Order: sequence, then structure tokens, then C-alpha cells
Amino acid sequence: MPLEIPAFIEQQLACWPLARRNYDALSQVRNRTLTVDGIPVRLQFNPARAVSSQAKLDAKTLAERPCFLCPQQRPPEQISADLFGKYVLLVNPFPITPVHLTLAAREHRPQQLDETSLLDFLQLAKAFPHYTLLFNGANAGASAPDHFHFQLTNTDYYPLPIEASTPLVARSSWSGDRPEALLQAWKSTGWDDRLCNFFVRYDAQRWTLTVFPRKTHRPTQYYDGSLLISPGAIDMTGTLVITRESDFDRITADDIRDIYRQVSRL
Ligand SMILES: [Zn+2]
Repeated sequence: MPLEIPAFIEQQLACWPLARRNYDALSQVRNRTLTVDGIPVRLQFNPARAVSSQAKLDAKTLAERPCFLCPQQRPPEQISADLFGKYVLLVNPFPITPVHLTLAAREHRPQQLDETSLLDFLQLAKAFPHYTLLFNGANAGASAPDHFHFQLTNTDYYPLPIEASTPLVARSSWSGDRPEALLQAWKSTGWDDRLCNFFVRYDAQRWTLTVFPRKTHRPTQYYDGSLLISPGAIDMTGTLVITRESDFDRITADDIRDIYRQVSRL
């Protein structure tokens, strides 16, 4: 390519005060860990994420709001870099992970992972072998289900191996050096991509693709207002992003088990 991710982020943060503020705040977020059925679950109090995790995602709201991934509506401060002539690299101004980028399709098209875009996903992971890429299905945490995008995060952010199974959250994982074999593995599940979270990592000439099948996007606690938790891909790996401080302080292991039971297709 070659594209140096740290230099790209620095260039962006130097000219976009909002992004700079949110990346600086990330180094001071509160974390704590609760053990649920023997599994450590990290809680991250990250109030800047409210804009994303509490986004209204109904068709009417999406149709009426300007798409923030289309070039004519992106903030004027936001820089971009070309990827394969098909995608653009953008800094996510509301980061969860210390490196958090968006890889947005050049054209406005729905968040639907077909064969071509799954192969793109693998090739993009190969282009950035030190990072972990993810894809939120349209009904599984994507805050822009109307504009196709992947995300890039740093691999050392995840406390547990993403592919390691736990009794809390269902997932399937495959490794291999042939993209077609991984594509077939995914297709053989018969799962609806709109209700799945995907991760891919490329290391030592092999891809590891992990898929989290979901029953639903948000748990009942979100809708009754008792816990504003809206799980996307990162939450399924065992780091729950919490945007309201009272939720962060009082959530229990029982709450977490119940939330995962509702949203994961166990
Ligand atoms: Zn768009």
C-alpha cells in the first residue's frame, strides 16, 4: 500500500480537535473487570460513545439524517486515504480502542456482507497484518447500517483471544490460508450476516475469521432504560462499552449474563 496507521492517526488528530479530545479522553476511561461464570468481562466507561451506541437506527431516522460516511457530508476536518480504489480509510472520531479506524465503501450502499465484500474484508486484513478488523452486521451494532464499512482496531486491545470459545457468548472461528475456504466455511453456517459480528486477523500467512451469531441487537434493559447497553462486535468479545456512569457503577454479573443470553445466539 504502504500506509502507516500511526502516522495517519497523528496527521488526523493534529487537525481535528473533536477527534483529538476523544482520543485523549480514551487514555483516561475507567475500566473494571467482573467475573461472570469464570470469564473475566471488562467494563469500559466511555461516555463519548453515547452518540453511536444510542443512535436511532429505524429506517425513517436513517433516511432523514445526512450519512456521515458519504464524502460530501463528512466533517471538513476529516482526512481520508484510498484503499484498493474501493474503500477509504477514516479515523473514527468516537474511539473504543486506541487505534480505531473506519474503512468505508466509496459508494453509499447498505451494510450487507456478500461474497465480494467478505473477500475484500480478508484482503484488507492482509494489508494491515498487525491489526484486527471487524464488521458489525446491519442489525447487530452497526451505527451506519446504510453505508457499508469495516472497522480496524488494535489486536492487543482484546484481553481474551477473540476466537477462544466461552460459555457466555456463541462464536465460530476458522483459520486458513485460502480465502475461498473461509468464504465456504462462512456460507455453510447459513447465518444471516445482518445478525452477526465478524472479526478477521491475518498473521503468519493465515487468516482467522471469527463470527458471533446474534439473536438481537439490543437487550430489554436498553429499551426499558435500566441499562443503556447496546452491544456491537467489541462487546461480544468480552469488553462491554458503557456510556452512562450509573450503569458502569451498578451493573452486576447477573445483568451481564442476562444481556449476553438475550443478544447472543447460544
Ligand atoms: Zn453514505
